[in-house]
Amino acid sequence: MSEATTHDARRVTVRAPAKINLHLGVGAPRPDGFHPLATVYQAVGLYDDVTVSTWDEWSVQVRYEGLLADPSATGRPADRGVEHTVPLGEDNIAVRAGRALLAHHGIVDVAAAITIHKSIPVAGGMAGGSADAAATLVALDRLWDLDTPDDDLLALAATLGSDVPFSLLGGTAGGTGRGELVEPLADAGSWWWVVVGNDTGLSTPEVYRTFDEMSDVTSLSEPELPPELLDALARGDVHALAEHLANDLQDPALALRPDLQATFDDGYDAGALECLLSGSGPSVLLLCADADHARSVTAAMHEAGHGRAVAVPAPVSGVHVVSYDGPVG
Ligand code: ATP
Repeated sequence: MSEATTHDARRVTVRAPAKINLHLGVGAPRPDGFHPLATVYQAVGLYDDVTVSTWDEWSVQVRYEGLLADPSATGRPADRGVEHTVPLGEDNIAVRAGRALLAHHGIVDVAAAITIHKSIPVAGGMAGGSADAAATLVALDRLWDLDTPDDDLLALAATLGSDVPFSLLGGTAGGTGRGELVEPLADAGSWWWVVVGNDTGLSTPEVYRTFDEMSDVTSLSEPELPPELLDALARGDVHALAEHLANDLQDPALALRPDLQATFDDGYDAGALECLLSGSGPSVLLLCADADHARSVTAAMHEAGHGRAVAVPAPVSGVHVVSYDGPVG
């Protein structure tokens, strides 16, 4: 490791994308409570940027950007869902990522100041926390010249959360196990989605609990990656993709949040090819034919009162360094 002090001027900024699930197949819970998944991830052009510098203790700051820029203006109902807050202390998954990286290398007595520029909806089913964890792993690895092998980063990522390995990888990938076993998939498309954020987050564990209550878990088969969807991706066929999108958590999320049905209805009225819940929700995804279509669907959603609708391309790369400010001289 290079010599680093609290006065080291170096700062590294790493960008990490949000994820969506084009397919989210959920199996019966295992004895440890985790649900086996077969999922198709896609990284979309909505990003958190994580900047790190060496400091004498762990600290986290969050700056809300883009559509999240003024969280107090959301008018969110306080009586349902989870709070739209990101913990600033040791509970922040970025700090857990930093500590895990140091433990992996057996390094003590070093810490970092972490600033998260957050554009990914919080508790929105788009793996914003996982993106921050993945970005922090790579940012600190570069800051401290640790040269952690990719396989070790992926293994560390999997200990932090099921979606963290995919945040490292990006693109389009299959996820099995709890979603942490990722393999890149052939994807010939240049896809456009409209992401419709929601002012009130949904708790992922609560959605899974509702899934268990609503399913006959004894009859659930082992989830598998759907060949028709993989074929649509490999051919870049947007209409076939629209036909084969699926999310087993959509019905439980809608049971918890019936108000989301109106977003789906507005999405179809706006001309989306298909509407899909993002992960465990509450963000809703509208599949569009191309960039022009995405622009017109976004405008229609804004007109229908969904001010948080934003058009994003996919697939995009996983975590990547966007700036590296070395010491001067
Ligand atoms: P999940 O990964 O559980 O599917 P999600 O994608 O819906 O979650 P996240 O934005 O990752 O949502 O937030 C999940 C919870 O994790 C939040 O309620 C928040 O309290 C906590 N959290 C911890 N660290 C972070 C972080 N850096 N960014 C966002 N949330 C964080």
